[in-house]
Amino acid sequence: MSGNFSDIREQIRALCAGFPGAYWREHDRARTYPREFVDALTTGGWLACLIPEAYGGSGLGLREAAAIMEEIQASGCNGAAAHAQMYTMGTILRHGSDAQKTSYLPEIAAGRLRLQAFGVTEPESGTDTLSLRTRAVRDGDHYIVNGSKVWTSRAEHSDLMLLLARTTAREDAPSRTEGLSVFIVDLREARGKGIEIRPIPTMINHATCEVFIDNLRVPAANLIGEEGKGFRYILDGMNAERILIGAECIGDARWFVARAGDYAKTRKVFNRPIGQNQGVQFPIARAYAQMRAAALMVERAAALFDAGERCGEEANLAKLLASEASWEAADTCMQTFGGYGFAEEFDVERKFREARLYRTAPISTNMILSYVAEHVLGLPRSY
Ligand SMILES: Cc1cc2nc3c(=O)[nH]c(=O)nc-3n(C[C@H](O)[C@H](O)[C@H](O)COP(=O)(O)OP(=O)(O)OC[C@H]3O[C@@H](n4cnc5c(N)ncnc54)[C@H](O)[C@@H]3O)c2cc1C
Repeated sequence: MSGNFSDIREQIRALCAGFPGAYWREHDRARTYPREFVDALTTGGWLACLIPEAYGGSGLGLREAAAIMEEIQASGCNGAAAHAQMYTMGTILRHGSDAQKTSYLPEIAAGRLRLQAFGVTEPESGTDTLSLRTRAVRDGDHYIVNGSKVWTSRAEHSDLMLLLARTTAREDAPSRTEGLSVFIVDLREARGKGIEIRPIPTMINHATCEVFIDNLRVPAANLIGEEGKGFRYILDGMNAERILIGAECIGDARWFVARAGDYAKTRKVFNRPIGQNQGVQFPIARAYAQMRAAALMVERAAALFDAGERCGEEANLAKLLASEASWEAADTCMQTFGGYGFAEEFDVERKFREARLYRTAPISTNMILSYVAEHVLGLPRSY
């Protein structure tokens, strides 16, 4: 792989050309994991783009990673099958011990180890991460973990999972954000020995699961960083996640706008292309304008991130604006296609379902607005 932006986009487009709509429709219908696509991304080194060269990755920046994700979506593919591997490793990179970095990162970079799963959300706590109940109790050189996670995506297709669990009872923790810890769980060893994974049928093909944890023994050596500081480590990784998801939304919006435009030019009703009607043109033009505006915020956030500057505001705004732009474009594309938007063969209904996710996950729109209101505008704390 090459580090030049237009090269990257070109190479990704070439890779994605091997995975046309029919490929995605088949996996979507059967709700099967697009393994061949993920393998191609892994073999090409794309998922290791953020891993430093010293650990076998290509050491590119978040701007390049964003270009990769955007181009995947703009090509009609679905990066959600693999995107977490790009940013989840950041927790190990930034907060892991030297031993953890040298044992995991080169293996991940080489594609021999998959780090696709992270277990944060729980059935009871939902958005309120600090009230999660999964408990890890130290027992000699191990921790014993009990609890459950929900919406743990790709758990069935990952060798490792980052797990957030409470190590100090909430009432005994020094502050409300302390007392949670992050662990690397080796799912290959843990499945059937303390971990049970159950897929959740959903409206999209997302390989998302419930994870039940029953007396799981995790080596203490798998604790990342300091015990009790895990919430901060997870928060640290969220800017990268938001920016990359924002880039995916931009790619989706591009796909919808392009599809809607092509269809509007060729579909003839009343003896003229439907796109000749301004009632059809304007929503497409508006979706394009919203996509371009949101893309600027994604680029700005990624540039700040790469420069090592604070980017919480921009990362959140990027995710918010891009997910709204892609949803607007999705709805416009559906409307432009008329009844055919509902037919599987055009891929519009599939992409429409997939695009909707990003207004809810990995963080819902309300939570971003709440962040902006409280932390950017200084409004009173609401929860
Ligand atoms: C397909 C899919 C994949 C996912 N993958 C993962 C994953 O890999 N790992 C992981 O850990 N999690 C994952 N998630 C979880 C996702 O991050 C959560 O669904 C999301 O954060 C919301 O949590 P919840 O579903 O429990 O909603 P709830 O917390 O129950 O919230 C429901 C609604 O109420 C709103 N709300 C709640 N409190 C407030 C408030 N104080 N003010 C205003 N609005 C509020 C929320 O914004 C939301 O719209 C995934 C979810 C989905 C659907």
